[in-house]
Amino acid sequence: MEIVLRGIGVSPGIGIGPVFLFDIDSIEVPHYPITEVTAELHRFHAAVETVRKDLKRLHKQTAHVLGEGHADIFTAHLMLLDDVAMHEEIETRLNKERLNVEFLLNDLILRYAKVMKTIEDPRFRERTNDFLDVGNRILVKLLNFERPSLEHIVPPSVVVAHDLSPSDTANIDVHNALGIATDVGGPTSHTAILARALEIPAVVGLRYIGAHVKSGDILIIDGAKGYAIIRPEPATLAEYAAEKERTDQRRSALLQIEDIRGSITLDGHEVPLLANIELPVEITSCLRVKARGVGLYRTEYLFLNQNALPTEEEQFQAYAQAAVALKPLPVTLRTLDLGGDKFASSLQLSPELNPQLGWRAIRFCLERPDIFKAQLRAILRASVHGNIQILFPLVSGIEELRRIKQVLEEVREDLTYRNVPFRKDIRVGSMIEVPSAVVVADMLARECDFFSIGTNDLIQYSLAVDRVNEKIAHLYEPAHPAIVRMVRDTIRAAKAAGISCSLCGEMAGDPLFTELLIGLGIDSLSMSSVAIPAVHAEIANTNLTAAKRLANRVLGATTIAEVRQILEERFKKKGAMERYLSRISPQQAN
Ligand code: PEP
Ligand code: MG
Repeated sequence: MEIVLRGIGVSPGIGIGPVFLFDIDSIEVPHYPITEVTAELHRFHAAVETVRKDLKRLHKQTAHVLGEGHADIFTAHLMLLDDVAMHEEIETRLNKERLNVEFLLNDLILRYAKVMKTIEDPRFRERTNDFLDVGNRILVKLLNFERPSLEHIVPPSVVVAHDLSPSDTANIDVHNALGIATDVGGPTSHTAILARALEIPAVVGLRYIGAHVKSGDILIIDGAKGYAIIRPEPATLAEYAAEKERTDQRRSALLQIEDIRGSITLDGHEVPLLANIELPVEITSCLRVKARGVGLYRTEYLFLNQNALPTEEEQFQAYAQAAVALKPLPVTLRTLDLGGDKFASSLQLSPELNPQLGWRAIRFCLERPDIFKAQLRAILRASVHGNIQILFPLVSGIEELRRIKQVLEEVREDLTYRNVPFRKDIRVGSMIEVPSAVVVADMLARECDFFSIGTNDLIQYSLAVDRVNEKIAHLYEPAHPAIVRMVRDTIRAAKAAGISCSLCGEMAGDPLFTELLIGLGIDSLSMSSVAIPAVHAEIANTNLTAAKRLANRVLGATTIAEVRQILEERFKKKGAMERYLSRISPQQAN
């Protein structure tokens, strides 16, 4: 029987294939008496040394793919390998109880796992989790158990897991991972970021998928819509296979077009498409899809999964690298948006009851001028290497914007005083992602150079729907009439003040909304690189006059269902992608 589960689509694309069930909980651990304590201890030490080699290799690979900062997780794991308490307990119990070492180690792991369930503080949970990861690695070596690794996925399959640890995901077999489906996680989880960067379709937050599938079951993943279809009926399978083929063909055809001069509507109106990036490694895909710059660099990712905060110099290197690679195109560096669901373990912040409404983003930065100013200095110093602009997250009103600009001014004065070069004309923008900012957008627009609408948070805060809670994911609705009006009002305020207005939430990468956003007057769109070709095609088949008519019709709709119906009908009728592809030459399309 076909089962359809809805989760959170975090990396677009369709994946179809057998299930690769990634589950290391089902290892059978034997229990037997031993006589040779020294030999048993030797076995334990040998297993630890083999794990050490594996972790060093993982560290090297991750540093290569994601950068040094992200590889630090393995430095932490390497330290845990020498955990004195673990070694002492194993040795003492071996001498006393004379039982096989894998049983004793497993006993220790189970105790930690039990304790972990009771820990509320996410920082300590994270550390205990790291310990479990390391402990399990030693255990599978002792058991000569081929640890299910994602390094070699044969045959090509869709990976299903309750969750994926950083060490598992960092090492995934990119060519054979057809998709990823997990029970837990949100769009900003490590799995999600990696999947997007590696262009593997992924759906997270499916809650029960691990319990519903067996290895080898056929599974469809729709990473754009957030569906997982288990054991699909032949008709569903045929439908998705055809859709996948169409999507793949479109993608490769679109990527081969050499002369994308920009995304221009049929009547000559340009809507530049820029890329959202989290990590330096994504600059390559951003250039491959011919993005017109980076519209959102989520710089906080340089701070996550690290043992220490990156220094001003490290930040400067990362920002300058992006600026140089994209020059003369713009790189929009959004200052730290930590807090909420993004958490830097090195900062040791205490847990909050409502983190999404808590000490997050600019609120945090304004109270930690040491961290904020170091980042601003790094950004300003990097500004001479290309076309950098600064974007501030979670601005809620004018006082906040003024305080931010005051801090920026202090940093500028300091650099000027020290004769450090920076671009004096750097553009300063405000994210519009808090409902109060929409209401006072006219005031904000007079005091900054551009807006970027963050619909991910704007939807969360306006509809009161936590964006990372899978239980209420169905209530998270970009087609809500309130959201459409807020986007309209923000664009209007920007236009009245003569500044530009971009949109960088996930809505920007969904072709269903492209014509509406153009009709509402958006100046540019920023999205993950994988989404760019499809939105480009949509724009190339849109007419500005028709888009304005569509926007008026949508603004007249009163329900979510009506908004969706208007957009979906229009989308089907236009068949934008097909018409676009029929216009490019067969040679280009091959
Ligand atoms: C947003 O809120 O829409 C946004 C783009 O920022 P983030 O997803 O990083 O919060
Ligand atoms: Mg946001």
